[in-house]
Amino acid sequence: MDITDPWEVTSIKRDSKSREVTAIVALKAGLPLLCPICGMVAKLHDHRFRRWRHLDSCNHKTIVEADIPRVECTEHGIKQVAVTWAVKGSRFTAEFESTVLLWLKGDPISTVAENFRLSWDEVDGIMSRAVKRGLARRDTTSPKNIGIDETSFQKHHQYVTVILDKDTDTVIDILDDRKAVTLKNWLQIQQKSDFSELQSITMDMWDPFINAVKKSFQDAEKLIAFDRFHVSQHFGKALDKIRAEEHRSFINGEAKSPLVRSKYQWLINSHRIDNRSTRRKEFMPLTRMNLKTARAWRIKEAATSLWDYSYMGAAERNWKRLLGWISRCRLKPMIAVGNMVRRYFWGILNAIRLKENNSMLEAKNACIQRIKKIACGFRNRKRFKNAILFHLGGLDLQPFPTR
Ligand SMILES: [Zn+2]
Repeated sequence: MDITDPWEVTSIKRDSKSREVTAIVALKAGLPLLCPICGMVAKLHDHRFRRWRHLDSCNHKTIVEADIPRVECTEHGIKQVAVTWAVKGSRFTAEFESTVLLWLKGDPISTVAENFRLSWDEVDGIMSRAVKRGLARRDTTSPKNIGIDETSFQKHHQYVTVILDKDTDTVIDILDDRKAVTLKNWLQIQQKSDFSELQSITMDMWDPFINAVKKSFQDAEKLIAFDRFHVSQHFGKALDKIRAEEHRSFINGEAKSPLVRSKYQWLINSHRIDNRSTRRKEFMPLTRMNLKTARAWRIKEAATSLWDYSYMGAAERNWKRLLGWISRCRLKPMIAVGNMVRRYFWGILNAIRLKENNSMLEAKNACIQRIKKIACGFRNRKRFKNAILFHLGGLDLQPFPTR
């Protein structure tokens, strides 16, 4: 423990009944008292009795006790002198807090509370104070590439918005909802983020957020990149709708539907799987049949292959070719997606040019959902937010700064 100059342990008490050890600490005699703010010598005002919980020793709960002097500084008034073993206001030694924080990285609050014989609220307090000082210590960030996406907070379609710095792979912040005004306000009050080097903002094709970014950045139409996985999702949904309708029409016509139990096979991205598997061998002939679903599938497959271009001319040409094909396909749900792509084409081209997508953020969202699951849900957004920043904020959480 950091009982260093000018402090010393003056005595140790042991209570075998309550299994408690107490170290009594005092300032070395004869030393001048200093104001904790300006460091100037100040005169003694009074003492305050304080106790801190420390890590157990030999199976005994260990306590540090001291009468802490309060000084009267001519400039700063009455102040308690600083101690070396705990941060201001904490009832735990820094080493104790540090160890609890380490445990919290891997275990839920309830487990940590049980292990350290603390209440749930005490552990939560250690955690939220750590996040608070971590955020205060965070230097100005100059994010180059940001990802914005929503993730569910509780059931009943409650969402929060996650903002990721993709270059440092850290969560910059979590917004309470997914309203345009919230994002717009957030962008405007960022004092710790310097956006002058910003190159991209990857997001979904969603007007409220697009407009919020446009209101905050003049060159928004160059910055915004639409996430390829979200775009693909729209194609997948259209395809699935067409398949479901066609399947129903077979059944209603009292014919045997070739589409039975084929839903997921159509949706899989065939670039990523082994098409020689048995299941796939059974499926692939369907794609060659004269089916609406097969036509929609070919469009979807083509769309997923149009993202990795080095030459923007080729990218633009091939997307336009696909859009022409879609406009002639006579499949209503696909035509709707085609119109959507046409409307947001600028941001799709940005994504290809900038080579940006939100797969990193998808991975973060998976972590966030795991954090939520471990904690068995969160009673409120503030706690949820704290936990995300604690685990994924890349913050210096230690009681005393480590960098
Ligand atoms: Zn002072």
